[in-house]
Amino acid sequence: MKAVVVGGGIGGLTAAIALRRTGHEVTVLERAPELREIGAGLSLAPNAMRALDALGIGERVRTHSAPSEVSGTLRTSSGRFLRRFRPGRDEPLAAFHRAELHSALLAELPETVVQTGIDVTDAAEADADVIVAADGVHSGFRHWLFPAAPGPGFRYTAWRGVTEPGVGPPVRGSFTMGRGAYFMIHPLPGARACWALGAAEPTPGVRNPSEHAEVARRIADWPAEARELVAATRPDAVLHNDILDLDPLPASRATASRCSVTRLTPCRRTSARARARRSRTPWCSPSRCGTTPCPKRWPRTTPRADRVRRTSRSRRAARRRPTRRRRGGCTRCWR
Ligand SMILES: Cc1cc2nc3c(=O)[nH]c(=O)nc-3n(C[C@H](O)[C@H](O)[C@H](O)COP(=O)(O)OP(=O)(O)OC[C@H]3O[C@@H](n4cnc5c(N)ncnc54)[C@H](O)[C@@H]3O)c2cc1C
Repeated sequence: MKAVVVGGGIGGLTAAIALRRTGHEVTVLERAPELREIGAGLSLAPNAMRALDALGIGERVRTHSAPSEVSGTLRTSSGRFLRRFRPGRDEPLAAFHRAELHSALLAELPETVVQTGIDVTDAAEADADVIVAADGVHSGFRHWLFPAAPGPGFRYTAWRGVTEPGVGPPVRGSFTMGRGAYFMIHPLPGARACWALGAAEPTPGVRNPSEHAEVARRIADWPAEARELVAATRPDAVLHNDILDLDPLPASRATASRCSVTRLTPCRRTSARARARRSRTPWCSPSRCGTTPCPKRWPRTTPRADRVRRTSRSRRAARRRPTRRRRGGCTRCWR
């Protein structure tokens, strides 16, 4: 089959590699005049690496990555560790420089497959049996196929940076949570490190005269490792982007409702059913509790001070009575 992949990003190139493996004739059409990926670090979870293994390119791609212990290392902004990475229990993520991952994927495709400088605005333009729309978060194809589906929504804002080789402290990967913000660190091959500061903001598009100074200000009392990494990053290498997100498409929701991935991508129908079931359940919901008495409210047991004064006879009698829950209230909201 003749397949056209619209978009030469990480998703498009991977789709092209997969299609070629299954014997299809593939062309990648990319709008940009030159194929290159900018950005900072990017980590791939073990399931993403397994997908690359299934395509037979996992080992080659892995050589461009460093294992990051971010998956098991969690601490607070005061530096207190809530969790430490434990080999065997936690699986490291594969941390890449985005440009290097993109180049590694591109190297898996023959030169003639990717054609740049082609802006595909209509499916009819592509002479293909199948079109894979991998045109990014602002996908024109998505809008064309699902005009009613909401576009990307603003989630939070993020600053990212990569240190120069050998500059900055050695790192193993960590995730630090603060009030309305996180700081993520990954090691990169070549004695480099990448970091990202994510912060909740009410509106997108707010920019600062010096993004480097803004990051330093925001993490002024955060762990020294974070501050040292930012200090070791060239100010002009600090990127600031708003993070957008897309809801699953209606088609994927419908599929999800009939298969076992429902929990990963909850479909509206399932949640409506779940909501209806919950409303029929006699347990009170936290919102109802406290306003109207819950029909299943358990009677409170005798206060502890009284209980200890009971005689052994009354204790034996109490034991014969049907068991009551120690704590009164609804078993769901514990009121
Ligand atoms: C700050 C940040 C950090 C992230 N970190 C991680 C991470 O650590 N791990 C992770 O797994 N994911 C991460 N992500 C998400 C990940 O980067 C994206 O999911 C991924 O890059 C999407 O790849 P893509 O190929 O689908 O889209 P894109 O990379 O957006 O590529 C789309 C391509 O399509 C081209 N294109 C668009 N329209 C047309 C058209 N009409 N005709 C032809 N070409 C077109 C564009 O020029 C572009 O090259 C991060 C995202 C951001 C923003």
